[in-house]
Amino acid sequence: MDYIEKDLEYIWHPCSQMKDYESFKPIVIEKGKGLRLYDTDGNVYLDAVSSWWCNLFGHSNPKINAALCKQVESLEHVIFANFTHKPVIELCDRLHKVLPKGLDKFFFTDNGSAAVEAALKMSFHYHAQIGQSNKKRFMALTDAYHGETIGALSVGDLDIYTEVYKPLMIDVTRVQGPDCYRCPYGKCRENCQAECFEKVEKELKIYGQEVSAFIIEPLVQAAAGMKIYPAIYLKKLREACDQYDIHLIADEIAVGFGRTGKMFACEHAGISPDMICLSKGLTGGYMPMALVATTNKVYDAFYADYLEGKSFMHSHTYSGNPLGASCALAVLNIFEDEKILEGLPSRNALFHKKVEDALGDLPYVGEIRHIGFINGIELVRDKRTKEPFSSELRIGYEIYKIAVSKGLLLRPLGNVLYFNPPLSMTEEEMDEMIAICKASIETYFNGVINKSKF
Ligand SMILES: *Cc1c(COP(=O)(O)O)cnc(C)c1O
Repeated sequence: MDYIEKDLEYIWHPCSQMKDYESFKPIVIEKGKGLRLYDTDGNVYLDAVSSWWCNLFGHSNPKINAALCKQVESLEHVIFANFTHKPVIELCDRLHKVLPKGLDKFFFTDNGSAAVEAALKMSFHYHAQIGQSNKKRFMALTDAYHGETIGALSVGDLDIYTEVYKPLMIDVTRVQGPDCYRCPYGKCRENCQAECFEKVEKELKIYGQEVSAFIIEPLVQAAAGMKIYPAIYLKKLREACDQYDIHLIADEIAVGFGRTGKMFACEHAGISPDMICLSKGLTGGYMPMALVATTNKVYDAFYADYLEGKSFMHSHTYSGNPLGASCALAVLNIFEDEKILEGLPSRNALFHKKVEDALGDLPYVGEIRHIGFINGIELVRDKRTKEPFSSELRIGYEIYKIAVSKGLLLRPLGNVLYFNPPLSMTEEEMDEMIAICKASIETYFNGVINKSKF
């Protein structure tokens, strides 16, 4: 079978203009091992983006493989209403020990967007249940990304995903979020006191009493181009939410599980949200699984005799799937047994230094922002004025194609190239990843400059 031809005959790929596939064919991956992906033609790709930010400990990790194989021999799936199973119970017990304090109840979904939907509904429903029916508004930041279903899109704000669907969306109060590279207050990361938080305060003065929840991606607005902002912003947000009786929903789908150097990004600010959404790294990139962890206070508002009609009737067929739970347990075991978090600060610093040394002085590299292993490299037309490149040049996409041809899976976001590799990356892999990235940037700019395309 010609797999590429058949793929294009049948498959509508996510987040793609399918016409692009005419000139840049889908790559058929046969196997993965560690950070490497192998295609059917014998080409190898280093996975710098953790296969959409979910792989934590390499592809085909022996420990997670073993846990999954063992689980599939005994139970692959069971209805999760009234029925339960050991892996998911153990998982909650283990997560409870590592999550920020006060997150005592777990509600499972099967993907990140669904977790965001569940959290929004839970918050709204909670307030209705305790007689605060005026609280039916959600607040979120500009440039936010929380998933693709209509509710999750509504709290998101990236035009390429949301623009067309605006007529369908729920009304959300959008607040201008932090923009540290182009800080309108003229601050730098070192002297910032989150002055821009005044934008939130201003909106809260108007809408605070009506707001049910504020949803935020803690510390990194990932899909927006790995925009990183300081922890003090989160601290201020926690205080403001308390003052106005608003749920703080931390969407840690992208940043949870060590991506920022700590288990969860909220820890950098020393805060606990009222709800946390987890997915992606939860199963180490193995199985679709997601959850919302919340407080007993929220849970208790739903706890009543059946006829009072207070139940949270939300459900997803694959909620709490045993295979996903067994992978998630294996992930937590790896964190513990291999003391992953202890090793991260020095390895994160080493990686950033290498990235900075190799790429920092390139002519079009405006900023290299970083937290954990996440390094976002923003390309700009003019380093001094920070003037962006026009999105029509599709610079990220062009560099992506070059990088793939050189054996690196980068997947830039607009003009931002980024690394968000598995936590198991070795020093040799760091060097190789950075070298190919550098060569790809140079190839691109040499090419366009010669053709005087801009
Ligand atoms: C990926 C992501 C989601 C959506 O998760 P899916 O499983 O793709 O639906 C939501 N929020 C953030 C911050 C994400 O990165």
